[in-house]
Amino acid sequence: EYQHRAAYHRVLDSGAAKVPLGLKRKGLRIVVTGGAGFVGSHLVDRLIQRGDSVIVVDNFFTGRKENVMHHFGNPRFELIRHDVVEPILLEVDQIYHLACPASPVHYKFNPVKTIKTNVVGTLNMLGLAKRVGARFLLTSTSEVYGDPLQHPQVETYWGNVNPIGVRSCYDEGKRTAETLTMDYHRGAGVEVRIARIFNTYGPRMCIDDGRVVSNFVAQALRKEPMTVYGDGKQTRSFQYVSDLVEGLMRLMGGEHVGPFNIGNPGEFTMLELAQVVKDSIDPNAKIEFRPNTEDDPHKRKPDITRAKELLGWEPKVSLRNGLPLMVTDFRQRIFGDQKEGSS
Ligand code: NAD
Ligand code: UDP
Ligand code: UDP
Repeated sequence: EYQHRAAYHRVLDSGAAKVPLGLKRKGLRIVVTGGAGFVGSHLVDRLIQRGDSVIVVDNFFTGRKENVMHHFGNPRFELIRHDVVEPILLEVDQIYHLACPASPVHYKFNPVKTIKTNVVGTLNMLGLAKRVGARFLLTSTSEVYGDPLQHPQVETYWGNVNPIGVRSCYDEGKRTAETLTMDYHRGAGVEVRIARIFNTYGPRMCIDDGRVVSNFVAQALRKEPMTVYGDGKQTRSFQYVSDLVEGLMRLMGGEHVGPFNIGNPGEFTMLELAQVVKDSIDPNAKIEFRPNTEDDPHKRKPDITRAKELLGWEPKVSLRNGLPLMVTDFRQRIFGDQKEGSS
């Protein structure tokens, strides 16, 4: 059975999966945990478009039905309200494991639940992968590098994480999830992939999730001052969601376990980001300084050499080109001049 699946994956990896739908190759059966969330719902769109059958498993902590509602009625789409902390039995070929709150405001809301989701939730999905011989992809995070002492961050860097800080439920949770993933790979022969995702933005982000891009965009649209935490000189690298989804699909389809940094190396201070938002939305937008949060990483920028070389992937959408696409979606959702959830 295991051999059979490996062979099946090889056929798909060789590009045979790209045959036109008319030729009636049956698509893959794929679970996307967290598929009603921001990144997950965009991934689901691409998988459905490719001809796969997709099961979304989501407890709707931060996800919304509106993000996937346009697939209701499609026999290749299924939505299950389920918490990954509980076991589940499914028969699938691939598992994209995204379930986990991603914004600091959300993951700090109930830190113990965040740890359970990362540890027990990931364990359950790996147990499922082992039982059915599915390939498993973990969406880890640049946060595994903590407040990095190496810049830019390379996958071989082990990170600088505070194990007892307010962000640790997420950072250490994801680090443990990576460990579990590698141990199921080495110990049980599960085919695994690990992506370390850097800050990503785009349509369908929660409007009030407290992340910097969603905050600035919503504030500028509402004519409120943009809240810059600390001195605004800390940096982040912002990736548009379609680039991320492409990276995840290439990683899942490819031969390499990783971990791979998946992010846009364009690095911005928060003050520079505020300027880009200003230019895109409102030249008169004001900024307001607020105290910074605890353990805030000072800088972050991916080294994506490995993904370029081994996955043939690199981001295509710059911040200045991606931001307006998100602004359109936010404007519609905030001012309600059109149906929610569209992008
Ligand atoms: P999101 O909050 O929009 O999506 C997470 C989804 O998981 C939501 O739909 C939520 O309801 C669901 N979920 C949470 N806990 C669950 C549980 N216990 N059981 C079932 N479902 C659960 O966040 P996102 O930005 O789409 O992030 C998706 C993944 O990517 C996460 O694993 C996150 O850690 C990772 N990631 C995202 C970013 C980013 O910038 N967006 C950066 C690094 C890593
Ligand atoms: N699991 C699951 N679905 C499955 C198979 C396993 O949710 O199809 C869960 C199972 O309940 C367990 C975890 O995954 O909590 C790890 O499973 P594994 O078989 O690796 O370990 P064990 O059950 O022996 O502890
Ligand atoms: N930040 C900010 N204003 C906000 C929200 C966040 O200046 O309204 C800063 C925050 O202090 C951090 C950076 O933006 O330095 C990125 O924060 P975010 O929560 O988006 O992501 P993460 O810290 O997980 O990278």
